[in-house]
Amino acid sequence: MNAMKLPLLDLKAQYETIREEIEETVLRICSSQRFILGPEVSELEEEIAAHTGARFAIGVSSGTDALLASLLALEIGPGHEVITTTYSFFATAGVISRVGARPVFVDIEPDTFNMDPGAVAACMSSRTRAIMPVHLFGRCMDLDPILEMAGERGVAVVEDAAQSFGAVDANGRSAGAMGSVGCFSFYPSKNLGAFGDGGMVITDDEALARRIGMLRVHGEAPKYHHRLVGGNFRLDSLQAAVLRVKLRHVREWTDARREKARRYRMLLEAAASSEGLILPQDCPGHAYNQFVVRSPERDRMRSFLEDRGVATEVYYPLPLHLQECFGSLGYREGDFPRAEAAAQSSLALPIYPELTLAQQQYVCTQIRRFCGS
Ligand SMILES: *Cc1c(COP(=O)(O)O)cnc(C)c1O
Repeated sequence: MNAMKLPLLDLKAQYETIREEIEETVLRICSSQRFILGPEVSELEEEIAAHTGARFAIGVSSGTDALLASLLALEIGPGHEVITTTYSFFATAGVISRVGARPVFVDIEPDTFNMDPGAVAACMSSRTRAIMPVHLFGRCMDLDPILEMAGERGVAVVEDAAQSFGAVDANGRSAGAMGSVGCFSFYPSKNLGAFGDGGMVITDDEALARRIGMLRVHGEAPKYHHRLVGGNFRLDSLQAAVLRVKLRHVREWTDARREKARRYRMLLEAAASSEGLILPQDCPGHAYNQFVVRSPERDRMRSFLEDRGVATEVYYPLPLHLQECFGSLGYREGDFPRAEAAAQSSLALPIYPELTLAQQQYVCTQIRRFCGS
């Protein structure tokens, strides 16, 4: 087969399928010259609430700000601890530090890359104010054990569902809609991606929703009267309008991602059984923001694929407990062996709804070649 050039994600291919709808919408916003919050944002909030089954949705400026505003609304700050996974994007733990609280890390489960609920109980202390589970790579984790523990202790559950818009758990509940609050990111590479930054908080708690709505406009209510110290966490109309168009397609895109995952499994089965290649565990509501395999030869495999035109990515090369900025927390290498092993072995393959069969066959042929099967 001829060499192909294959990106990790091809947003242009997706744009071509919705170009007319988007351009019409964007021109409408240009004519209105109404850019900040406004009716598009309110409509999007209602649609996201309906889509996820949450009572309230508050559009914000990014996934990071969704998490930050949630912690501020829950009044988490100095002297408090928030338990989270060490294997996630930096923002998950960054926001905990930014409000002055202490991130308390736990290891991941061996098979899912998600936080090990069994490890959470041992980390609970009188200072624990929240648990922040992450539905990593689009896989909705089973939150029941965590919700139960949090309920008993009266601590909040802040779901980082940044990578999992459209994912559901075994009981059909949406990622983000189970905890005290759920946070989404609309960063372009997420399953529902804007044309820039954006985010959303969902919750069933009316008082929290009101506080988050206030915090996103510097805590003001009414105008120029500030009850809380918030920030500029606003979502803009152009992003909301683009997201409303994309939301109409997101179920079909999630199905397409699942279909690509199924194909990868089929095409990589032989390599997986022979050469230590581990494929991600499937589960019914997985939204496959990423398809992450593991290999003891990860770095060699990555450059082999790169030489043959296939882009891949390492999510994540260094767990959070080993990040330089968290040095003062006192964690050491070896503290969370499963996350550390995942950081050494995981590799994300190209996955997006428009990925063609020929492209996937090309990727898998190269991987099989690398594995010598
Ligand atoms: C993307 C992401 C975020 C942050 O979202 P932004 O919109 O980039 O601020 C937070 N947590 C996780 C797990 C993410 O993947």
